[in-house]
Amino acid sequence: VKENGKNDYMQHSSDMDHIALEKLTIQHEMRRALHNNEFLLYYQPQYDLASGQIVGMEALVRWKHPQRGLVPPGEFIPAAEESGIIVPLGEWVIEEACRQNKAWQDEGLSRIPVSVNLSFRQFSQRNLTGKISEILQRTGLDPRYLELEITESMTMDVERASRDLKELTDLGLHISIDDFGTGYSSFHYLKNLPIARLKIDRSFVRDVQQNPSDAAIVAAIISMAHNLQMQVIAEGVETKGQVHFLRSYRCDEMQGYFGSPPLSSTDAQALLTEKLNG
Ligand code: C2E
Ligand code: CA
Ligand code: CA
Ligand code: CA
Repeated sequence: VKENGKNDYMQHSSDMDHIALEKLTIQHEMRRALHNNEFLLYYQPQYDLASGQIVGMEALVRWKHPQRGLVPPGEFIPAAEESGIIVPLGEWVIEEACRQNKAWQDEGLSRIPVSVNLSFRQFSQRNLTGKISEILQRTGLDPRYLELEITESMTMDVERASRDLKELTDLGLHISIDDFGTGYSSFHYLKNLPIARLKIDRSFVRDVQQNPSDAAIVAAIISMAHNLQMQVIAEGVETKGQVHFLRSYRCDEMQGYFGSPPLSSTDAQALLTEKLNG
């Protein structure tokens, strides 16, 4: 029994070493990548459902890896969060999104907000407001054109979230709740936090026409958001039928492949230019 226990332990230990080594490698790789400017942002347009106009863009990070090509965030954000690299990476994302938005505005393209995803680690940083304030100053972007997306889990400590979000919104930027409906939800936080917009998670949108429960949930989120004076946007909109449903329930905006997939900055700029010139 003793022998077995030892073997199990050794087996376990070497698996752990292997995992630890992989983590170290990816951490090291990400630090190098940040230093070498291998990250870039894609932008997914957000459309007003009534007018069809582009009313915002969500910045989505990609890793242009020298060997692996364009790596989607699902493959490195979790490791970046675990290791803490998400903090400098996330700051880079905010600064690049602000810089790009300001550049588009300076070129006379439409003035629309850019949304940036905030990770829990970033949100827990003590000097986040100071950092964002510096970024806004450095890039010259009017804070009205920056939106930060947080998730429901970040609002669990309502007292703290309320203090931190108030500081951020005092800068003039907006806060939205991402993947709304999938996390820990409480009406307490919705009532007490300065939230401008709810983003309905795409899991509710997908079968909205076939599944009466999803339809009821989407309709309820829209109506609740409006009664709380919040805007509401549906994520993952892929079909005309979903658009019809959302329009008939007076959802404000949509984001998804039906409108456009996330675009490189070049393609996003071309789209904004085309819209500008009719
Ligand atoms: P998210 O914030 O929910 O972003 C939306 C994701 O849905 C994007 O995936 C987008 O490409 C995808 N999507 C958009 N429209 C559709 C659609 O019609 N159908 C389907 N099936 N999918 C659609 P992406 O770019 O792979 O990003 C995945 C997640 O990675 C994001 O989910 C977000 O949680 C995270 N992420 C991306 N960029 C950042 C970042 O800069 N910082 C942090 N902390 N997280 C990020
Ligand atoms: Ca998001
Ligand atoms: Ca989302
Ligand atoms: Ca998500």
